Amino acid sequence: MKSQVWFLTGSQHLYGPETLDQVAAQSAEIQGLLTDAGLSAEIVGKPVLTDSGAIRQVMLEANADPSCLGVIAWMHTFSPAKMWITGLDVLRKPLLHLHTQHNQSLPWATIDMDFMNLNQAAHGDREFGFIQARLGVPRKTIAGHAADPVVAQRIDAWVRAAAGFAHLRTLRLARFGDNMRDVAVTEGDKVEAELRFGVSVNTYGVNDLVAVVDAVSDADVDALVAEYSDVYDLAPELRKDGERHDSLRYAARIEAGLRQFLVTGGFGAFTTNFEDLGGLRQLPGLAVQRLMADGYGFGGEGDWKTSALLAAVKAMGAGAGRGTSFMEDYTYHFGPGEPKILGAHMLEVCPTIAADRPRCEIHPLGIGNREDPVRLVFDAATGPGVVIGLADMGDRFRLVANEIEVVPPDEPLPSLPVARAVWKPQPSLSTSAECWLTAGGPHHTVMTQAVGSETLRDFADMERTELLLIDDRTTPFDFADRVRWNQAYYRLSRPI
Ligand code: MN
Repeated sequence: MKSQVWFLTGSQHLYGPETLDQVAAQSAEIQGLLTDAGLSAEIVGKPVLTDSGAIRQVMLEANADPSCLGVIAWMHTFSPAKMWITGLDVLRKPLLHLHTQHNQSLPWATIDMDFMNLNQAAHGDREFGFIQARLGVPRKTIAGHAADPVVAQRIDAWVRAAAGFAHLRTLRLARFGDNMRDVAVTEGDKVEAELRFGVSVNTYGVNDLVAVVDAVSDADVDALVAEYSDVYDLAPELRKDGERHDSLRYAARIEAGLRQFLVTGGFGAFTTNFEDLGGLRQLPGLAVQRLMADGYGFGGEGDWKTSALLAAVKAMGAGAGRGTSFMEDYTYHFGPGEPKILGAHMLEVCPTIAADRPRCEIHPLGIGNREDPVRLVFDAATGPGVVIGLADMGDRFRLVANEIEVVPPDEPLPSLPVARAVWKPQPSLSTSAECWLTAGGPHHTVMTQAVGSETLRDFADMERTELLLIDDRTTPFDFADRVRWNQAYYRLSRPI
């Protein structure tokens, strides 16, 4: 089922059928421009709306249609906005107010009152803007001509955010064991999370998973092992004739069992905890990496918030051709040269961000008290990205994000046995880290190169959740002020 975005065109009866036909035809042209721009969802036009009953009806249909990610509204002509009150009040899907017009240029030499009466978005959309502000409707507003590539890109950023929003509304998340003991930031209010985001978070005994893992057939293990040797550079000791081939087979068994558990239960995200591995012989590494690559959310140490966020961001980035991974700020390079962050995790970095074909290796792991785990090792692809984290501040959730540039390591890292990303945070390591710490942002994040910060901003607005973004214009003092002002805003206000 290809996702859709519904295009709603506002007008009124006063114009008469001839003008309304022109409105419909010109709206179809605008929709065609957006379709030609290659949005990541199908634009579906609806009949021109001219009364409150039809407006309310289309909003209720949008709510009920699982293929509808959200609605775009454009007032081609003047649509008296009291007609929109009850419709906007029932709308539960994301809303984008596109402020555009059919003509790009004014026809200076020929413009007459007929033209003026038809092309009235300049004040029709102001009427619509007023009622949205009066009602406090969450929305994104974009002004510009639909042929402008920047307008199309900004709409697509919103479409992608809406895809993440929709994915999270019905997401089921399985936790194998609880959080890592004594850790603060991975805690959180699962009831509030289900109300706010829709995600349902539940815990399973890890030995429920072990039972499924142990029951995987040898044939299924054979098939996965064959796939591994096709798509990764297998370390010699893991190959069929290698002395540790059995470890690779057990890693495959974990993957098959974990995947079966998730598919059977309808789960789109999960967590593990190295403190609670029950009868598992290895901490799941390779399995987690490959499931993330297939779109599953994951968080280490029982971190269900990051797992849910990863699943949502992966939905936002679908088809973008770049990757998204679970990530942890691990250690710093303060110099010489430009300061950088080295991000990684014990094992679980998603191969969608890999620069090259990953190597499949086995190395000791000092924690978890189990056999050596198999994992994929690689450097992340270079280029712009964003890291984003989700914290529970007690009275609300807070998203913290930082625009980054993934760069090559200064030197090869031959002794580091895990996948990693090296990046320069905006605007600098010191400002980024000072602001992140001021905001109380978590150490676990989602690192994405598939969507930009505009999509994350749109997503936060849809979720009515605070987002503190650190970018190239951020200064520590201004940022600290924003944190203070947000405290008041989120306790007192309703959406703009
Ligand atoms: Mn961790």
